[in-house]
Amino acid sequence: QQRRGYAAATDATPAPAGKVDPSSAAAASRRAMSALADKYDRTLVENIYRSSFKNQTGVSLKYMLDFGSQPIHRQLMVSAQFLHKELPVRFAHRVAELENLPLGLSSKAQVQTVRDWYVESYDELLKFPTVKTNEDEEKFTELIKRIMERHANVVPMIARGVLELKMEMAEKGGTRPGTGKKGLVAQINDLPEIQQFLDGFYMSRIGIRMLIGQHVALHEKDDTRGEDYIGLIHTKMSPLRVARDAIDDARSICMRQYGDAPEVEVFGDESFTFAYEPGHLHQMLFELVKNSLRAVSDKYADSDDDPPPIRLVIAEGAEDVTIKISDEGGGIRRSGLQRIWTYLYTTADSPLLEMDEHTPGPVVLAGYGYGLPLSRLYARYFGGDLQVISMDGYGTDAYLHLNRLGNVQEPLP
Ligand code: ADP
Ligand code: MG
Repeated sequence: QQRRGYAAATDATPAPAGKVDPSSAAAASRRAMSALADKYDRTLVENIYRSSFKNQTGVSLKYMLDFGSQPIHRQLMVSAQFLHKELPVRFAHRVAELENLPLGLSSKAQVQTVRDWYVESYDELLKFPTVKTNEDEEKFTELIKRIMERHANVVPMIARGVLELKMEMAEKGGTRPGTGKKGLVAQINDLPEIQQFLDGFYMSRIGIRMLIGQHVALHEKDDTRGEDYIGLIHTKMSPLRVARDAIDDARSICMRQYGDAPEVEVFGDESFTFAYEPGHLHQMLFELVKNSLRAVSDKYADSDDDPPPIRLVIAEGAEDVTIKISDEGGGIRRSGLQRIWTYLYTTADSPLLEMDEHTPGPVVLAGYGYGLPLSRLYARYFGGDLQVISMDGYGTDAYLHLNRLGNVQEPLP
């Protein structure tokens, strides 16, 4: 029987002290760690290495909800103790992974910067004394908030590193991306092994940020979030209301870029609610609506006809809540359909090309090529999924499935 949830990591059973297996994976990890030893203290590197072989402990939405029925001071204490054990393990897995990437990606400056963030965060957590009193918990919360800030730009940073690698490979392979920025990224070959890494890496990041965010939200139980919240989870979230917010945000970006924005019609039961993390839903709908707005705006750019409205339908099922976003923006070619799930695939100008080592790129309607793959990860994180079906020449339907039972344990790459 698998031990789960916060309790699993905080009970008395010690985690196996580095179940080091003699496989080649372990050897590779050992080699990777020796590269770290040039830069960091030997004990720290040994600790990271050992932690990277411990199992991560998953939690589910339902678990977080059930946990929320306990007295708040107990929740905070148990949650802090859990995170104090669990976060270093998750960070160590990421360090080992970042040191072991294929195609020389590990040696890219951006990737090393990100790796250093994980090493530093690991180190700070390990140095933090056992959480026993409310004061300890208070300080611990401050620490994980700082960690969260340190890692804020991981996604664009890694994206930029991957982009550089892809451009280098394209040049070596004789592909001339051309001088224009337009569609440059779309011409570069996909790298399946990198795709696989990014899926796992970003999924892990979603999990880490959910755990930290949940603790901080429990700690800061404020008035902006009402009684119906348990941490970040809204126990009576109205998907319709979240959809309206996401549509407003997406349309205002569209307005800024195109001077106008197609209408979005919403269909759904005003009073329907279920327990979910509204931030995640907002993020996914925002990305999907932006994609539709862009497609419709482009298609009708030179037309005298009014652009047809985008339709967002919310369906309440027994297991799933499904949200469909339909547009008549011309669809996606079947040859391009596989690639929409790959990171960096975009048919817009990439703002990443302008990004330097420290500043993330601007908020734009499209161009990072991260909207769809990241949204799918958010959906899958809580047991849902995202599908895109296109009618080339007509339009696109995106189906976002959310698991409403919340009993699926987070995927742990
Ligand atoms: P980005 O929007 O930054 O390009 P996404 O991952 O959101 O990245 O989308 C990738 C690509 O998929 C887009 O550049 C576009 O070519 C295509 N796409 C996504 N959604 C739609 C849609 N609703 N209609 C037409 N094309 C779409
Ligand atoms: Mg997009």
